[in-house]
Amino acid sequence: MTESGTIFDQIISRELAADIVYEDQYVLGFKDINPQAPIHILFIPKLRIATHNDINIDNIDYVSKMHLAINHYVNQIGEAENGYRVVMNCNKNGQQTVFHIHMHLLAGRAMNWPPG
Ligand code: 5GP
Repeated sequence: MTESGTIFDQIISRELAADIVYEDQYVLGFKDINPQAPIHILFIPKLRIATHNDINIDNIDYVSKMHLAINHYVNQIGEAENGYRVVMNCNKNGQQTVFHIHMHLLAGRAMNWPPG
């Protein structure tokens, strides 16, 4: 992370290319560069919130919008009924690697549980 933020800020500002599949005023959705399922989209807020621990009353609206964006998208691609997984990794034990919160939308196959 730099003063200007993470790689995800560069995707938001279009300095870095990404395969964007969803956008609204608050949220951007784009394909993960290293997909773990046939459909693997990252939904990020257009505000840098570093980790799940940093979600608070002032920025919670962005998190709500991320969920609504996912609902819109899974309906659009016809995966709502089949089901999917939404994951947020936090810090070391969660194996978070980019410190700008993101929801992984994983779909297109049956998921394993427990995740390991
Ligand atoms: P985390 O491990 O932090 O939960 O997830 C970060 C995700 O970002 C990883 O799944 C990784 O593949 C993805 N990622 C990292 N760099 C890029 C990038 O430059 N472009 C895209 N589209 N995805 C990225």
